[in-house]
Amino acid sequence: MPQQLFKALVLDQQEGAVTATIRELAADALPDGDVLVAVAYSSLNYKDGLAVTGQGRIVRSYPFVPGIDLAGTVVESQSPAFQPGDQVVLTGWGVGERHWGGYAQLARVRSEWLVPLPAGMDLEQAMGIGTAGFTAMLCVMALEERGLAPGGRPVVVTGASGGVGSVAVALLAQLGYHVVASTGRAELHAYLQELGAREIIGRAALASPGKPLESERWGGAIDTVGGDTLAGLLRAMAYGTSVAACGLAGGSALNTTVFPFILRGVSLLGIDSVMCPQERRRAAWARLARDLPRDALERIVQVVPLAEVPALSRQILAGQVRGRIVIDVNA
Ligand code: NDP
Repeated sequence: MPQQLFKALVLDQQEGAVTATIRELAADALPDGDVLVAVAYSSLNYKDGLAVTGQGRIVRSYPFVPGIDLAGTVVESQSPAFQPGDQVVLTGWGVGERHWGGYAQLARVRSEWLVPLPAGMDLEQAMGIGTAGFTAMLCVMALEERGLAPGGRPVVVTGASGGVGSVAVALLAQLGYHVVASTGRAELHAYLQELGAREIIGRAALASPGKPLESERWGGAIDTVGGDTLAGLLRAMAYGTSVAACGLAGGSALNTTVFPFILRGVSLLGIDSVMCPQERRRAAWARLARDLPRDALERIVQVVPLAEVPALSRQILAGQVRGRIVIDVNA
């Protein structure tokens, strides 16, 4: 029987330099897995930017198909959990890092990595949310579990106009929080207000050096930036509140003191989407289907063809991408 051919963005490494080209591959080139998925959409995340440009040692073996998330339809399944025709979503688990990912028309993956497409959401919306939006939901859930509730002090979101940040702003606003968006881009203030931010503060305001403790300002925080920004948030958290830390867009080092923790009972909650257990994934996707307004998602998302991934990868690393980019792998 002739091999099924499919289009993929393939990374190769030559003399240390990583190149990305669209190629046609045969299905038997795909890695092992018990489910074959016809991919409809993937998306562009910060980690994809690193992988496609060969930075951050995200990908270790070449040739490689990147794309850390995907949404599509099951074509073949050796797992009783999925049948041909089922619509599924995949984020994390090392897909697009160690296992070939979503920047292709076909993906062979492990059934335990898949989540059924939540009711009330289509495949394009699922990748409009993607890894970044899923992570934003995990941040909101972690803060709520530590007692965050609407009606208190403002909740701040850093890197607000990026992928995680945009979804976090829209979710928190919909849930009734007073959202303060922190951004370095003055031209995106109107965008953030449309998503529901009540106040906007400049990036530098949080990151500038200060006393070990400053006046209690924040009732909660979602931080996608890390570095001096996270240190600045910790100094100004109100008594007994929490920061959900998920990112490093501004740096991975954290230079802080123990005072926010031992004098104000502040909690620093680490958020990981990659190895997040299956039950929590399904809970987060169900919450996203319920709590993320579709009109906000439409404002956040732009759909582009696979060929635009290399240029957009450079842009996301430079902090120039707004919201979420969905990759139409069949365009
Ligand atoms: P984006 O690039 O879309 O968003 C990051 C945002 O951070 C930018 O839009 C910008 O926002 C801000 N920013 C960029 N550079 C700097 C800088 N040098 N200093 C301060 N702020 C900066 O990325 P994502 O939203 O996809 O991811 C955000 C972070 O979260 C990344 O570090 C990513 O690796 C991490 N992440 C972690 C996950 C996990 O499981 N823990 C999952 C998904 C993402 P603005 O212009 O508004 O200031």
